[in-house]
Amino acid sequence: MCTSAALQASLRAALTNDMVMTDSAEMLRFCRDWHGDVTSSAVAVLRPRSTEDVASAVRACRALGLSIVPQGGNTGLVLGSIPDRPESQVVLSLERMNAIRNIDADDFSAVVEAGCILSELKDRIAEKYMYFPLALGAQGSCHIGGNVSTNAGGINVLRYGMTRELVLGVEVVLPDGTIFNGLSTLRKDNRGIDLKQLFIGAEGTLGIITAVSIKLMPFPDQVATALLGLNSLDDAIKLYRRARRDCCDLMSAFEFMPPLAFVLAREAIPDLSMPIAGDYPAYVLMEISGSGLVDIADLMERFLGGVMEDGLVVDGVIAASQAQARNLWLFREGMNEGQAKRGPHMRTDISVPLYRLADFVRDAEQAVSEALPDCISVSYGHVGDGNVHLNVLPPSDSSPDEAAAKIYKAKTVVNQVLDGYNGSISAEHGIGRLKRADFEERLDPSRRAVLTALKQAIDPSMVMNPGCQLNFPGIS
Ligand SMILES: Cc1cc2nc3c(=O)[nH]c(=O)nc-3n(C[C@H](O)[C@H](O)[C@H](O)COP(=O)(O)OP(=O)(O)OC[C@H]3O[C@@H](n4cnc5c(N)ncnc54)[C@H](O)[C@@H]3O)c2cc1C
Repeated sequence: MCTSAALQASLRAALTNDMVMTDSAEMLRFCRDWHGDVTSSAVAVLRPRSTEDVASAVRACRALGLSIVPQGGNTGLVLGSIPDRPESQVVLSLERMNAIRNIDADDFSAVVEAGCILSELKDRIAEKYMYFPLALGAQGSCHIGGNVSTNAGGINVLRYGMTRELVLGVEVVLPDGTIFNGLSTLRKDNRGIDLKQLFIGAEGTLGIITAVSIKLMPFPDQVATALLGLNSLDDAIKLYRRARRDCCDLMSAFEFMPPLAFVLAREAIPDLSMPIAGDYPAYVLMEISGSGLVDIADLMERFLGGVMEDGLVVDGVIAASQAQARNLWLFREGMNEGQAKRGPHMRTDISVPLYRLADFVRDAEQAVSEALPDCISVSYGHVGDGNVHLNVLPPSDSSPDEAAAKIYKAKTVVNQVLDGYNGSISAEHGIGRLKRADFEERLDPSRRAVLTALKQAIDPSMVMNPGCQLNFPGIS
């Protein structure tokens, strides 16, 4: 077995010097997760500038017996993008591959490199009066390649779908260093099995995505945002069904928040002004948007008039300006930071069939309060997609060991309830290394067999992100 120094020297000899980073202080940001909970290290961090660079890096690592952890913006929340075997892994960061190769306004498509930061990409597309609808809290840092590799969701899924539905093609460096060019922009292409789907959501376990072709939409120049007070989560689900129908499927966001959201958000951002006077058991942040001849403001007003008359919504406010809309969204975004400020806590990213969501939240919160009476549950999220973050906050004065024990217990309790609802332990964030054991525990043997056969066929030497998603004991 070579020492790290020998491996680093071999990488420098095989690759252009400026691609290989080995200084441990410089490598730190690539080896620490977004929350700062886990810090690892690596033999090296490789920062290619082109697809050919990536291919050379893969060939060099393979020859040296090193495995590769691909990394985009490192905002993933499941430890898929940082190494867990520092003595035999390199991080391959796509951050220097951030060119926009083409934006085609007539075709409503673009071809972009994997390292484009999502918000910057959206801004460049907006300059052409087009729209890329993927939208998530991490968009100022995450990369489009990371979004595709995790099949990211976000706030606009109910209208535009998960990332998978926005991808037309991918360019991938395979584990043997060959380049798979699947960068088509065709919307209709039924020439056999759609291979790009293998790499979407694979979390870097089958290859390195170097570029993506994506679908674009007309820019939604009209947006109406409203915060609504309701009597219950059940009413929120009823409201969602009604909104989809009454708003001609122009709804682009529908976020559920409990009253605690406002407390948490103001703990993080103290000068946030309260948008609604009364207190309600449930809140919905809703957005409808469109372009062209449709009158979105009128649609929102008529819709809210109807649902308030029927008692489904008790109170509400429609943002009168972009600044007011931003203020409403700050409550949704600030509540995450507020939870972090209260210390380590249990975070989930769960989905259940929509019609069972309210029952699930009730049952799971009840089970947590029985098992852990001194902890607080907070459930919120993209409920229109059946996706809820049911998080559990231990008391702020818990010692690190006490908090860790409560977090473990809360996860076990919530997952037990979830299993009874046939739900998913990962609606959006993927499996990474954090959820591998929970995933494997619930994995159907036939699905495991297919996943193992795929890995065996594409990456038999286990070069790509070993330990992420699944362990494959039978593969060398
Ligand atoms: C504040 C906040 C809010 C978030 N909100 C949402 C949300 O609403 N919806 C949602 O789905 N997620 C959300 N996330 C999670 C995260 O932002 C997404 O998973 C995002 O898609 C990750 O992109 P990234 O570039 O940061 O990828 P990374 O974290 O760098 O990597 C994620 C995984 O993809 C692999 N990977 C990355 N790039 C490549 C590549 N080019 N080729 C092959 N494999 C690659 C990595 O190895 C890793 O397994 C949120 C995260 C934060 C911090």
